[in-house]
Amino acid sequence: MSKHLEPCPFFVGGEWIPSNLPATPVFNPSTGEVIAECPIGKVAEVNAAVDAAQAAFPAWMETPAVERSRILLRFKMLLEENFEDIVRCNTREHGKTLVESRGDVKRGMEVVEFALGVPSLMMGEVMENVARGIDCEAIRQPLGVCVGITPFNFPAMVPLWMYPIAIACGNTFVLKPSEKVPLTALKIAGLLDKAGLPMGVLNIVHGGREVVDALITHPKVKAISFVGSTPVARTIYETGTKHGKRVQSNGGAKNHVILMPDADVENSTRGVIEAAFGCAGERCMAGSTAVVVGAAEKTVLPTLVSATRQIRVGPTDRESQPDMGAVITRQHRDRVLELIDIGAQQGAKVLADGRGLKVSEAPEGFYVGPTILDHVQSGMTVAREEVFGPVLNVMHMEDLDQAIELTNSSAYGNGASIFTRSGKAAREFKHRAKAGMIGINIGVPASMAWFPFSGWDASFFGDLHMQGREGVQFFTQQKVTTSRWFSYGEGDIWHRDK
Ligand code: NAD
Repeated sequence: MSKHLEPCPFFVGGEWIPSNLPATPVFNPSTGEVIAECPIGKVAEVNAAVDAAQAAFPAWMETPAVERSRILLRFKMLLEENFEDIVRCNTREHGKTLVESRGDVKRGMEVVEFALGVPSLMMGEVMENVARGIDCEAIRQPLGVCVGITPFNFPAMVPLWMYPIAIACGNTFVLKPSEKVPLTALKIAGLLDKAGLPMGVLNIVHGGREVVDALITHPKVKAISFVGSTPVARTIYETGTKHGKRVQSNGGAKNHVILMPDADVENSTRGVIEAAFGCAGERCMAGSTAVVVGAAEKTVLPTLVSATRQIRVGPTDRESQPDMGAVITRQHRDRVLELIDIGAQQGAKVLADGRGLKVSEAPEGFYVGPTILDHVQSGMTVAREEVFGPVLNVMHMEDLDQAIELTNSSAYGNGASIFTRSGKAAREFKHRAKAGMIGINIGVPASMAWFPFSGWDASFFGDLHMQGREGVQFFTQQKVTTSRWFSYGEGDIWHRDK
């Protein structure tokens, strides 16, 4: 065990509260070392955090939007000043490379930039003379206490999808970060505290299922944002809505990348490598299935296999950086290895094999090498299950119609991409693919902050997605006022009675 453990306090009502509760280890996946212990909270911690958020709500709601925005502006500046510190913390607890961590933090910062525009974003609508002498206005008001429950794979970005927009709109918030990566979320919240956020507007509780259950059923909680695996996302949606909450719940994915015979070999290889093996495949937008159409098996596939074999894997917590880091835990590594074995047993051909990888500088790290499974068939376990590791399935199709049909047979609907030189094929794919985020010669078409992160089917449960204007709609409720003013002396009872 490591000599120095990072503190992992609760953050409730503006206080950083250390805990003696039983805890779960937080690892540095690069080395296998324990770097912190994340306390497993209980109902009492949830009640304290929700009460603090509820107490802070009336004053925060009354704070003019422009003042709320100024606090977020200071927060954004502090994020910039402390950027590399956050990036290193992120890499240390997650295992992704520094370049990938920079992307993770930057994408989150863009949501803060978006939320800064809240005085314009919250503006309502007015129409005069909806009937003679009658005017109508619709304004947006905050909901109250909102909750966020986040996964391990984007320790900076995913929490930042949620609370900057929620608090910009005048809500207060309780965040439960993943117990596998709580440190980056705490570091970032510390900066918001330093930026002058009033006590209790943002609170952080740690824990697992007990804490989540208490949060999503709490009578004072109005809205829930969840990101994680599909079975949990579905349950959160069902339980939350049953308890009368607004819920936006993002689940897992299995994204297809179509490689057309006319695809540019170099660019599409780079795109697929990034999509399949970036962040060691631990991305809900990972391009985990390459659909090779016709002659692309002779053009793109051989280059893809040789580029995959050259990917350097190793520890990311030091200056010299590999191309790809470790996966999150020992158990997850073992599960990914097991799924590769199952794929091979069910008939897939292992073109690049990451199972035997040894990383001599960090023998206890949680490594799986980049793996390509060729001739995967739809019924195979690896074709159906989200592996969430550096494993690329390859499936062969004769034409675009077959490739689209295959893409659309997936239960998930997060992202789908095509690599082609043909505008006609790209348009056809964009129009017919059943997924919420489409890439054209882009391997990871994850929406930026100004657009909704718009998963479909088993990748999303709810109505309003995270980020962009849908995010503002999710965290506000509309109030429509219809008004008529009588002229003096004609309809004014108060005057008549006097
Ligand atoms: P996970 O579902 O195991 O955990 C997510 C959160 O839910 C964590 O905070 C965890 O503590 C909590 N949780 C876990 N099990 C629970 C249970 N039974 N009841 C209540 N709460 C529970 O997910 P993960 O392994 O941390 O993250 C990876 C998953 O997240 C992948 O499936 C990935 O595709 C998905 N993901 C989706 C998106 C998206 O936008 N669609 C983005 C990132 C990650």
